[in-house]
Order: sequence, then structure tokens, then C-alpha cells
Amino acid sequence: MSRLLLCTDLDRTLLPNGPAPESAGARRAFARLVAHPQVRLVYVTGRHPALVDEAIATWRVPVPDLLIADVGATIVSGAAGRWKRWTRWDETLAGDWAGHSPGDLRDLLTGISGLTPQDPSRQATFKLSYFTPVETAGSVVAQAVRDRLRAAGIGANVIWSMDETAKTGLLDVLPAAATKRLALEFVLEDWDYEPGEVLFAGDSGNDLDVLVSPIPAVLVANADPSVRTEARERTGSAESASGLYLARGGALGMNGNYAAGILEGVLHYYPEWSGLLEEET
Ligand SMILES: [Mg+2]
Repeated sequence: MSRLLLCTDLDRTLLPNGPAPESAGARRAFARLVAHPQVRLVYVTGRHPALVDEAIATWRVPVPDLLIADVGATIVSGAAGRWKRWTRWDETLAGDWAGHSPGDLRDLLTGISGLTPQDPSRQATFKLSYFTPVETAGSVVAQAVRDRLRAAGIGANVIWSMDETAKTGLLDVLPAAATKRLALEFVLEDWDYEPGEVLFAGDSGNDLDVLVSPIPAVLVANADPSVRTEARERTGSAESASGLYLARGGALGMNGNYAAGILEGVLHYYPEWSGLLEEET
């Protein structure tokens, strides 16, 4: 059996924490695939490492070989609860911030009206997180942040989004290289994996960059229709040529949601694993 590097988002991709139902046995089959000695597992998530530990315990999913956390701002390996940072990735990210520490950046952004720091537990070495107003007022704040960073020569990725439930704007400042795609490409190069030995699985907006990249990828069936449409638009109609497969259900008698969608992607790109998967289910 050739080797396989399985890379997946957590919330609403491997973790069945969305409104769609999960097929019985899907996570168990996933865990047994991951236990094969030729398979390595990477989680690629917006969560902070401590919240990944929490998810592993709550949902009983496998401990990964490596964790890309904070939407790419953090890479750690080791074991749950005892993660060790990849300092070589930290060095890459530090280059974007032109030698400025997160504290320097915080000082630089002080005084922008409407910008309120989130709780210290939400901050990471390479991520500053703030609350903003919603809608137009919030977009004005986000623009002020971008302008101030650019003027200081700092390569940053400013992500502004809306928390509909809490009725607040959320703003994250990350180094320009801190994206799921760039972090994952860094890992593939470091571990010497070719795209043809890799599968990425995701469900939402911050997964799109990887989903439409040359890395073989699967969009799980429970993904929001708007994500499905955008992924299709960005890859053109040639799904398979662009390395994106849209899970639809049916494989292994499952519905294609969450872990079942990941397994469907494995069967699509790497049918040599079908024997192992079919005997499990
Ligand atoms: Mg997700």
C-alpha cells in the first residue's frame, strides 16, 4: 500500500457539529483508516491547539501527527496537550512581520476607534484578535487596520467576519503567509510528500484556497451550497482535473457528510484503500 497523508479541517468537516446528520460508523471507519501505518494525519483548523485537544476528547477523533492551528498561524506536532511549535514555520511568519513582535503590532493598532481586543485566550503568537462593530462601521475599522499595517510595511492577512449569533464583527490579524494553504504546502515540502500522496478535506470559506489548489481535495457533502458554488466557479467545471471532488454520498453506504465525505474522497483519489474501508463498514 502506498503512503497517504490525510489532511482535514475539523469543525463541520471531521467533527459532525453542523445541522446535517452523520452516518453511523463514519468516524470509526475514519479512525481505523488513520491507524494504518502508511497513513499520516494532519488537522488544518482555525481552532487554537487547546481547543483542538477539547475537540479530540469530545468527539473521540484520532490525535493527529501534526496540527496546523489558528488558520495557519500555528504549526505544532507531538501529542495532544504536549504540542511543540515548529520554530521553522515561526521563522517564516516572523519574516512577514518585518521583525515586529505581536506586542509591537498591538501598539501600532491602538487608538483605532471601534477596535476592541478579544480575550487573551483568543490571542496567539502570530494572531491578534479583535471585536469590531458590524456591517459598514465594521468594514471601516477593518480598512483602518489594513491601512495602518501597510503604512508600517507589515505583510499581514486581515480577516474580517461577522458573528451572526453574537451580532458582532470579528477581526484577526495574521502574517501574510498564515493561511491554511501556505502552511500545508510548507508541511508537504518539509515531509517530502508529492500532491499525489495527499488528500485534503474541508467544508467552508477558509478551506477554499486549499480546495481549489493542485492538492487533491474533497468538499464534504454537508458543505453550504454557497461554498459548493464558489468552489465550482474557482475550479471551472473540470472538477477532477483541478483536484477537487465534491462528495455526494453513496460510497460505503454512507451519506457523504463529515467523515463519510472524507472517506468518499479517499476512495475517489486512492481506490487502493477501498479493500480496507469496505471490510470495516
Ligand atoms: Mg469547517
